[in-house]
Amino acid sequence: MTCGLCGIDTGTAHLCARDAARLAARLTDLPTLYAEAAECLVPRRLGFGDIVATKGAAGPRSPLNEDLLDEISPGRAAAVLQSWREDVQRVRWPHHTPPPPATLAATCRWLAMEIDWIAAHYPAAGDLAREVRTLEVQARHVVGDPPPRPKTVGVCIAVTDDHGTLCGATLTHTAGQRAITCRTCHTVYRTEQELLLLLHYQPVAA
Ligand SMILES: [Zn+2]
Ligand SMILES: [Zn+2]
Repeated sequence: MTCGLCGIDTGTAHLCARDAARLAARLTDLPTLYAEAAECLVPRRLGFGDIVATKGAAGPRSPLNEDLLDEISPGRAAAVLQSWREDVQRVRWPHHTPPPPATLAATCRWLAMEIDWIAAHYPAAGDLAREVRTLEVQARHVVGDPPPRPKTVGVCIAVTDDHGTLCGATLTHTAGQRAITCRTCHTVYRTEQELLLLLHYQPVAA
């Protein structure tokens, strides 16, 4: 038998040990990756990236077609992997009732736990591995690979006491984030108004 993904000789298995391990790792990372991708898919109308871009600091990703919101979403990934889970269960336990719909995280966990059986006995293991790899590539395409690093935007302008003291903590923004949150005083800058005020009140020559 050969590996359904890379084609090397595997003895009796449907996936080689390396691709089985990679599939398990991808399944483990996928829920987090899709949560990050969903954060990155900021609808164009919010204009957040434009506002931050005027400061020249954050380097936002270009606005994305909103169709991508449906195409690369945890919901779609969950549905795709749910159908794989159903098929694995059908092959392994033909008499069981199909599993109820579950979250992406739960479905990934289930498939990862069954990885040994899938690699050894599931004839479509190569196709499953290929589809999981595609799901990962699609999400990485949105999140950026490597993931974007936070960049300094300016300082926090929140007033922290009755004397008008400004928080002054350094604010960072990671491409794709919908809001800037001060880690010191926890003020959130999210709306266009809040962001414009933030930029307006930056100290001169900061
Ligand atoms: Zn392989
Ligand atoms: Zn602050």
